[in-house]
Amino acid sequence: MSMITLKDIRHSYLPLPVDDIDWALKEMSVEWQDGGAYALLGPSGCGKTTLLNIISGLLQPTEGEVWFGDQNVTDEPADARNIAQVFQFPVVYDTMTVYDNLAFPLRNRGVDEAEVDKRVREIGAMLDLSETLAKRASGLTADGKQKISLGRGLVRENVNVIMFDEPLTVIDPHLKWVLRSKLKELHQRVGATMIYVTHDQTEALTFADQVVVMHDGNVVQVGTPVELFERPQHTFVGHFIGSPGMNVLPCDIDNGKVMFAGQPLQIAGTAGSDVKGRTEIGIRPEFVSFAEDGIPVNIVNSIDVGRFRIVEAHHGDDSIKLLVPEGEGIPADGAHVRFDPAHTRVYIDGWMVGGN
Ligand code: ADP
Ligand code: MG
Repeated sequence: MSMITLKDIRHSYLPLPVDDIDWALKEMSVEWQDGGAYALLGPSGCGKTTLLNIISGLLQPTEGEVWFGDQNVTDEPADARNIAQVFQFPVVYDTMTVYDNLAFPLRNRGVDEAEVDKRVREIGAMLDLSETLAKRASGLTADGKQKISLGRGLVRENVNVIMFDEPLTVIDPHLKWVLRSKLKELHQRVGATMIYVTHDQTEALTFADQVVVMHDGNVVQVGTPVELFERPQHTFVGHFIGSPGMNVLPCDIDNGKVMFAGQPLQIAGTAGSDVKGRTEIGIRPEFVSFAEDGIPVNIVNSIDVGRFRIVEAHHGDDSIKLLVPEGEGIPADGAHVRFDPAHTRVYIDGWMVGGN
């Protein structure tokens, strides 16, 4: 097992990439620590599978290098990299038994039968497949097949990394929850580096110690769930993580002064004085509150979500969401809102500035 380093990777599926949009992966360098539990989070089409396939060696990057520990493996084929990859849709040999399916990756590498038997039974038990080991895989439901796929990913020991590409897509919601907790537990037990790909923030945040957030072929932030919540480095992270996501509002920056709704705003850190580009503030609904004065708003909607109400207020064309704790009043007319300065950050062209 070893640390995995991606150095200045770029990838295009086109033979002659020219424009920015020709690159499925924009230039990135990412380190994956040995033994880490990572989630790779981003919407469909942002490049997650491309990135996984570059790590596993199914895909050669157009530019850059892949290192496992102190070895440059960029030119090594997938089967020389000692990794396990679980795909979005189950890869199962229907004519084989569940047992033989699980044993396959081990037998393929010449592991002796006593060891094969031990590992297959262990992994089978962890995934509640013990009862079905002797059955043909063809008789199983989609859930059962995906469990076999997961098992095949987990059955080998001492792999460099186990990668799961949206493995719970075809699984029903309850079992999804069970399997997700199980994977977390398995990570703690086997200690292998795991990369779990998902477009679902809940899945990412419950599984991972470190979340790698992707958007449009870029890695926009790597951080703990708390860091992503508290200090989103990019408006995309703020918006994508959180429920509801961060408010992103256009602002003007005039000589270092941040102006929104014709009023100066206090922010975390400084905005800088020579600002060029699209300027916005980011403030999470958790840190917006009603106040006596501040930004005048109209309340347009309020949804009860248990311990909170999600209130939507408008200032002109700008929509601002707030979380109002249960039991707190919501003003009728003449409402004003206030942003907590410690959590108000400035973004230029999407990227956070001076928000320390
Ligand atoms: P994700 O896994 O996040 O949904 P992908 O890595 O599959 O994203 O895709 C990233 C981008 O690359 C998308 O625009 C997709 O259409 C494109 N792409 C993916 N695979 C191929 C391929 N084999 N040939 C051409 N374009 C591809
Ligand atoms: Mg994908």
